[in-house]
Amino acid sequence: MKNFRLGAITGIPVYANITLVVFIPVLGWLLSRSQQIELYAQLIEGLVPYTFDVGVLQSGNTPLIIGTVGAVALMASVLVHELGHSWTARHYDVEIASITLWIFGGMAHMTELPEEWNKEFWIALAGPVTSVVLAVGAFGVLQVVPESPLVVFLVGWFAVVNLSLAIFNMVPAFPMDGGRILRALLARSRPYAAATQTAARVAKFLAVAMAVLGIFAGGPMLVLIALFVYVAATSESRATVLRELLRGFTVRELMQTDVHSVRPETTVRELRERVLSERHTWFPVVDDGGDIRGTVTLDDLQRAESETRLEDVMKTEPATLSPDADAFEVVVAMGEHNTDHVLVVENDSLVGVISAADLLEAIEILEGVGVSDRRPPVPDGYA
Ligand SMILES: [Zn+2]
Repeated sequence: MKNFRLGAITGIPVYANITLVVFIPVLGWLLSRSQQIELYAQLIEGLVPYTFDVGVLQSGNTPLIIGTVGAVALMASVLVHELGHSWTARHYDVEIASITLWIFGGMAHMTELPEEWNKEFWIALAGPVTSVVLAVGAFGVLQVVPESPLVVFLVGWFAVVNLSLAIFNMVPAFPMDGGRILRALLARSRPYAAATQTAARVAKFLAVAMAVLGIFAGGPMLVLIALFVYVAATSESRATVLRELLRGFTVRELMQTDVHSVRPETTVRELRERVLSERHTWFPVVDDGGDIRGTVTLDDLQRAESETRLEDVMKTEPATLSPDADAFEVVVAMGEHNTDHVLVVENDSLVGVISAADLLEAIEILEGVGVSDRRPPVPDGYA
């Protein structure tokens, strides 16, 4: 789904998912309803040593102000929570590619997930800790602000929201923070992949429990979150198993060196003939000087006129890797470029190609022969 760039904080780009265009107004509207205001006012009255007039909050434009400021404050709280993760990750030299805000909160995208249990533990814990700090700060402010019902309500709401964020994120269900903390703790005494599988099993169990609760208690949001947790836990556990399987192998060992490349000035008609005779479905485009210009697939050919030159239909900026890169990088590159083929480049020239089919074949073989003894020993710290 589409993301809009909002700006950057300390060099980290911040994006908002398009779903927020609908979600923030709905959230604001829900919050501005009399019933909700009364509910939260009761909660907030417990945080201050006096009572305040709820009627004032429910009259005139005040509900509108509460809805708007409240919804924005929630998103700001989520953003600061993600910054807590991001700054801690930076401290451990784990690069943060971006932060995306969406309806389930925020997501700090790391360029790679740390496998050392202590790094993951502290990075995951930093988010809930940040939210608790914000909640405690808001609670402190609440004790000194003037006794205006609106001000007290908004500061109180900020405290409640941040405390809820901290508690919710500590549920030990992947990929929520609590799940990552659980995996980090499990990884102290067992291999990372085994820790991931156990944490993922716990997450799936909790997801099913959340879904059942959501269905019977009538909480559609809870059912959605359960679904999200289930899918994410499954894919993360698969990715980890794959990484473990490919550990110790390089791109060179996976690549095909029999490369069928085409020239940029070749026409679509000429290539269609080659597709039939060579039974190949995609080709790297390389010019006379040996420069890699792009890739062309059957899809690109379908829409094109016969006499169009390939340089006008090819995809530029293909996924490329060095032959010495880790084999798991192939999985990452295919995901990042949303493609099913990677070019292997050494000293600026094309030395091989890897397609999704090659990757799957390698995985099948590795699964068939079991764990290879060529794998290097697992470094200290997370064995
Ligand atoms: Zn978090």
